Amino acid sequence: MISKKLKTDDGSDSSITDGKPLIIAGPCSAESPEQLLSVAQELKSIGKVSYMRAGVWKPRTTPNSFEGYGTEALIWLNQVKQETRIPFATEVANEKHVYEALKFGVDLLWIGARTVSNPFAVQEIASALRGVQIPVLVKNPLSPDLKLWEGAINRLRLAGVKEVGAIHRGFTVWHASPFRNFPMWEVALQLKANNPELRVISDPSHISGDSQYIELLSNRAINLGFDGLMVEVHPNPRLALSDAKQQLTPNQFKDMLCNLFEASNPNAELMTELRAEIDAVDELLVWALSHRMAIATEIAKVKYETGQSIIQPDRWNEVLNRVIGKGHKMGLRADFVKRLFNSIHRESLQTQEAITQNQTKMVKFG
Ligand code: PEP
Ligand code: MN
Repeated sequence: MISKKLKTDDGSDSSITDGKPLIIAGPCSAESPEQLLSVAQELKSIGKVSYMRAGVWKPRTTPNSFEGYGTEALIWLNQVKQETRIPFATEVANEKHVYEALKFGVDLLWIGARTVSNPFAVQEIASALRGVQIPVLVKNPLSPDLKLWEGAINRLRLAGVKEVGAIHRGFTVWHASPFRNFPMWEVALQLKANNPELRVISDPSHISGDSQYIELLSNRAINLGFDGLMVEVHPNPRLALSDAKQQLTPNQFKDMLCNLFEASNPNAELMTELRAEIDAVDELLVWALSHRMAIATEIAKVKYETGQSIIQPDRWNEVLNRVIGKGHKMGLRADFVKRLFNSIHRESLQTQEAITQNQTKMVKFG
């Protein structure tokens, strides 16, 4: 059995289960030996950081983006660890990555959101980790699929990985939003409720996509009882080769950590974060309404071509009963749901009438 635990300066084993908040920080990507050494020294002097993170293989959304320096960067990370004695963490997406990272003395691995969404890849990684004793953290999948997230965690546990934890990094949004990924805190809290012994930390950098929201998201996470944070920190975020907008400077990170557990006005912070969440939900509502109206337009054409009347009371009663029932299960008052949907329906009927009149004119004069 390979033991990869590193004794840190204070003599404690680096571990994710020592009861203290688990703080992981470092650049999105490992870019050069100088960049890594500079961040490592800063993090070391700040204290409180259990592992330095740095991506070596970067899963990028679009081709031709910077995809990481791979094994070369592991050599840098290993050297920086020898020099500063700060344990390091990186992301793996396949079996080869696991072997390479272990060869260069990695202290903690995480599986990224895109990889967690693929059970074949997770199983391959879990099998490669059989008998290896370093902590492994599992990010949430891109979609809010709690079973898929738990499934990935269980694959690692079944392979014998003893220290498994989870990272909440938010979920894909397909509409405009102040956040890059929608937090949906309740999904991560449910994971914690289902697995009380599991350490779940939050990654405000990938949730926000923007350095201005990191402190307030971190506050929210700690207030909600998360076990720690993973934060992207870069010596010069503007020049970062990936995720430039969301990385903090070491000084910003240091200030944030100082404020974190002693926020002077936690309610003001909470209000800002909650309002950002409301804005994101409102964007989603507007998107849903516009999408619904586009479908109603298509329906108007079919009604016209098949000679059906625009108003169909039986169908509308069916819709109304369904949404009222659904709303009731989700804590919405029947009266509110009814008024809301009747108003949407009126707008939809007006749009459909206008389309039908247009079609009639086109037939008459066209
Ligand atoms: C990362 O941590 O750099 C990363 C790619 O994150 P995610 O898998 O959350 O997108
Ligand atoms: Mn990143």
